[in-house]
Amino acid sequence: MSIHQQSNSIPVSENNTSSSESQSKPEDKQVEEKRLDFSNIEIPPKETLINEKGRNKTNVFCVRCPSKILNPRVSKFKNVEFSLPMMKQRRRTEIKEGSGEVEEQDAVKETINDFWEVNDIYTFENVGFTNTISGYKYLACADCEMGPIGYYDPDSKLSYVALTRVKYD
Ligand SMILES: [Zn+2]
Repeated sequence: MSIHQQSNSIPVSENNTSSSESQSKPEDKQVEEKRLDFSNIEIPPKETLINEKGRNKTNVFCVRCPSKILNPRVSKFKNVEFSLPMMKQRRRTEIKEGSGEVEEQDAVKETINDFWEVNDIYTFENVGFTNTISGYKYLACADCEMGPIGYYDPDSKLSYVALTRVKYD
């Protein structure tokens, strides 16, 4: 089964009478375009990853090693905006108590909008957490430490895995 994003036919009101009084801005359109910017990512279209209940259809793996992160249907697709540092394999020496701020400063970040929301950390098959950085913990592969693949919000206790930073089967 596939999800069709095709909307029902939207009634187009053709307004030929007034030419001077159009002040409404098409703001919805801008948001829509931003969400569809997937041009340089080689993951399958997200429609094929999400089932009819808005959950992850398939297993979710680390992009770099065979470590499994999530089983099918245990997380929910969520559209939230979060700025995540670019992925890399952490060096052991960087992981020190309270050293987060330093790392945070030189991190090049990418704004990500599509996440898998996991509402219990014990739902993960395998995952690693960093120390808290600016109020959040980053998620990384538990085996090879590739990351961040997402973040954990200690206030809500929710975890978010970026759709584009994991692999599917
Ligand atoms: Zn890995």
